[in-house]
Amino acid sequence: MVPTAEHFDVVVIGGGPGGYAAALYGAAAGLRVAMIEKDKVGGTCLHRGCIPAKELLETASVFRSVGDAERFGVKAGGAELDFGVTMARKQQVVDQLHKGLSGLVKSRKITVFAGTGTLGPDHAVTVSGGDETAEITGDHVVLAAGSVARTIGGFEVDGSIVLTSDEVFELSELPKRVAVIGGGAIGCEFASMMADLGCEVTVLEALPQILPGVDADVVPVVRKAFKDRGITVRTGVQVTGHDPHQGGTTVRLGDGETLDVEAVVVSVGRRPLSESLGLDGTGVKVDERGFVVVDEYCRTGEDGVFAVGDLIATPGLAHVAFAEAIVAVKQILGETAVPVDHAKVAWCIYCHPEVAFAGYSEAAAKEAGYEVVTSKHRWAGNSRALIIGETDGIVKVIAEKRPDGTGGRVLGVHMAGPWVTEQLGQGYLAVNWEATVAEIAHFIQPHPSLSENFGETVLTLTGRGLHG
Ligand SMILES: Cc1cc2nc3c(=O)[nH]c(=O)nc-3n(C[C@H](O)[C@H](O)[C@H](O)COP(=O)(O)OP(=O)(O)OC[C@H]3O[C@@H](n4cnc5c(N)ncnc54)[C@H](O)[C@@H]3O)c2cc1C
Repeated sequence: MVPTAEHFDVVVIGGGPGGYAAALYGAAAGLRVAMIEKDKVGGTCLHRGCIPAKELLETASVFRSVGDAERFGVKAGGAELDFGVTMARKQQVVDQLHKGLSGLVKSRKITVFAGTGTLGPDHAVTVSGGDETAEITGDHVVLAAGSVARTIGGFEVDGSIVLTSDEVFELSELPKRVAVIGGGAIGCEFASMMADLGCEVTVLEALPQILPGVDADVVPVVRKAFKDRGITVRTGVQVTGHDPHQGGTTVRLGDGETLDVEAVVVSVGRRPLSESLGLDGTGVKVDERGFVVVDEYCRTGEDGVFAVGDLIATPGLAHVAFAEAIVAVKQILGETAVPVDHAKVAWCIYCHPEVAFAGYSEAAAKEAGYEVVTSKHRWAGNSRALIIGETDGIVKVIAEKRPDGTGGRVLGVHMAGPWVTEQLGQGYLAVNWEATVAEIAHFIQPHPSLSENFGETVLTLTGRGLHG
């Protein structure tokens, strides 16, 4: 058993992407690290987020492909879904990654405490409520308590009729008719996955459009694809409550209409879990929404205490949490840290068709005062897209307008279509390296490949496209 009041170079509270990245990066640099986790190392992302969601979306993709196989001359017969096997495979992937991560944490000699960590004055951290009780201290502390699903009034989560993302990953069978409340990234991923697996899906979004922040030329691509697959999307609609009945519930909508479904998936964002952290007697401030207040270097109001990931008011993405953890640890090591440019991070939404973007949308660039030129290329002209039979979507590049009307610095890259989440890398680098259209156009894309569409879109902005 670890003795109490043990001292570490760094104490990390929370073992999700933010916490474990801080722990692994610090330990790799020779720091003595403690990490406290009240549930399972890996956090939301590994156990209730990115990984299980993408695994189920992959099953949806396989099922869709099999159903579509005849157009390739492949007679696959009547495809059927064995949801038990689907969920078992999802869990297998999660468990394997969990095992790998736990092994890595052990091999870096990070001391893991199972319990809830609370921070008091003088960097003293109490571990309680779990297998271990301990008082430990650290020269530095990284807060990484993450977030939980938000809920809405009148929709008490019961795990059978009203679900959040957490409960969807525990289903033993799929509801036949489902309402997804919230048309953000997570809502659209669930809608897409459930529709592909045979559910009748209605997305209910209070805002005028689904996928807020996504370029106005990209959103209609998703809406059309959803419509073609039988997903109903209703925007500008409030839900006011629901009336459960045998076998489901009737959702009441603000316009007086109702919707009868077997289950409701509430997908209205996430809230930070700062209340689990104590913080009494410390200089750490929490804002009115529950986010821990930090500066651009992830420093809290208490000297030597950092906060990263979903706990702070930055994009709620695992890779952002990783990057913030590195910023924090570099400072702990006395190295130069470059703040994360949150306006230019990569966003990937794994619905079908996929959406991926980095940097300004056209509207946001104009709002920021840029004079812009844009180029849009559809997938229908891309050979690889035709070969794989996935031609829905576009690649759009937004660049600063030069005096001669051609494109200068790339401000944003927005895509919808086949495997765009894997293709965004080039666009992300272009935006963040502040590359110009001419510089990128110099580089070659492999042929035939989906990435040629990005190359072609950029080439067009030089004023001399090859294929359109
Ligand atoms: C359905 C879904 C899909 C998603 N898909 C993606 C995606 O595709 N890509 C992407 O980048 N992001 C995705 N996300 C978001 C991503 O999961 C989060 O941004 C990420 O997990 C944040 O990491 P974190 O370490 O800040 O917090 P978390 O992952 O929430 O981890 C925090 C950890 O701290 C622990 N903890 C909390 N308080 C304490 C305490 N006081 N003491 C000890 N332990 C504590 C918790 O148990 C938890 O394990 C998705 C999220 C959801 C819900």
